[in-house]
Amino acid sequence: MHIKFTAEFDSEESCRTHFKEERDKIGVICKKFSNTTHYWIKSQWSYECKVCSSRTSLRSGTVMQSSNLSFLIWYKTMFLLTATKKGFSSKEIQRQLGLKRYEPVWAMAHKLRKAMGNRDHRYTLEGMIEMDEGYFTIKASENAHSTQKAGRGSKTKSNVMMMAESTILEDIESGKVERQCRYFKAKVLEDHKADDTDTTFKNGIDKEQTIVFTDKSTSYVNIADYVELHISEKSDETTTKETLKWVHITISNAKRNFVGTYHKIKKKYLQLYLNEFVYKLNRRYFGERVFDRLVIANITGL
Ligand SMILES: [Zn+2]
Repeated sequence: MHIKFTAEFDSEESCRTHFKEERDKIGVICKKFSNTTHYWIKSQWSYECKVCSSRTSLRSGTVMQSSNLSFLIWYKTMFLLTATKKGFSSKEIQRQLGLKRYEPVWAMAHKLRKAMGNRDHRYTLEGMIEMDEGYFTIKASENAHSTQKAGRGSKTKSNVMMMAESTILEDIESGKVERQCRYFKAKVLEDHKADDTDTTFKNGIDKEQTIVFTDKSTSYVNIADYVELHISEKSDETTTKETLKWVHITISNAKRNFVGTYHKIKKKYLQLYLNEFVYKLNRRYFGERVFDRLVIANITGL
């Protein structure tokens, strides 16, 4: 597979220049006195505070701040991460970029996935929301493995909460009902306790005038306290095809994507892969602009 990196970013200089332009639009804040006016010292690729003269490098305060990799490498990685719906493993990014060491590539990709999650965390879902849980296959930890019964192998499952804004649209003439989805959220649940479900849910939705659809799982008992209306239905074929259609489709798409792209995800990294999947899903109509958005997430998403 070969993807052509845009000609606009063909050198370290062009990537840095672009990054500076984007950072200037957002603004730089001096760490000492929160001053926002700076001189640009090009020879140092740094900002200098007009009040206290302290320096802020172009990377400082961004996702790239403690990385030794070049801007060009970061740009190529951001391009790869946003170029396809499917995504790339760190091994594949390393191969595409022709880098010797794996660890820095792995760390870079995960930092970007974390920034994607931080970015989406700023937004809450609203209106009509489908919610359900999915069990994702993960690599069992050494501990879990030793306590597992023989024959189950080194795999286990992790519980993920998926939420989708899903508006009911009814065709007045035909009476046919469809659901149109907008934004999604996905969160790895620490265990199956109602507490974690509640907190995840409360942080992820806009409380006013929200209607939530779920199945009749017991971990959802408190949800009615946080929303205008909680509609729960017994799981059957209708729930899967209609009421919870989009969460079900998305959970299985995410599972298929992870199996196809990554090799044995550890539980502690599952949220990062979900971040990337949902980030791109939420920006599925952005086209090439997803890359530009990721540059902004790199600046603000630490
Ligand atoms: Zn200052």
